[in-house]
Amino acid sequence: MNGHPAVVFLRQAHARAEELARAALDQLGALLNGADREEIGEWYVATRPATGTYVRAQDQHGRETDVCPTYGGSFADHIALHDPVSVLRRVAAERELLADLQADEHLMVDDGWYSCAAATDDRFGNVCADEGRAGGPCDCGRDARVERRVRLLAQGWGWEEEQRG
Ligand SMILES: [Zn+2]
Repeated sequence: MNGHPAVVFLRQAHARAEELARAALDQLGALLNGADREEIGEWYVATRPATGTYVRAQDQHGRETDVCPTYGGSFADHIALHDPVSVLRRVAAERELLADLQADEHLMVDDGWYSCAAATDDRFGNVCADEGRAGGPCDCGRDARVERRVRLLAQGWGWEEEQRG
């Protein structure tokens, strides 16, 4: 289901989030005297009595910089929770999860008569031996299960069911 609209949407959302996170790390690198992206850790909240609450970043050498001023409270914690390093980590994990979901195989059993109708690739085992079903739509539940899970992932990025293809 590589061409499924939810997969396309999800890949675009991942690419956009990654692009913005890398750009933010580049900006921080410039502020932190040329620190590499990989040296910059997660954001944290710091409150200074005189100037208020800031979201800040630090590199591996302990160099620090303000990312942005906030009104404090939950805003600051929320912004820090969605720092670029965390976004990159979540995007990488979701890409792996998406690949895992798509690699899920159709049911193939020793007696190919009972293999899924969509199980037609003999690299993976016993293809569907029922000529009346073979090559037809998946009837083992794999496709519906994968699609449901991909749509759930996409919903986390703003996918709405009206966009379904
Ligand atoms: Zn199937």
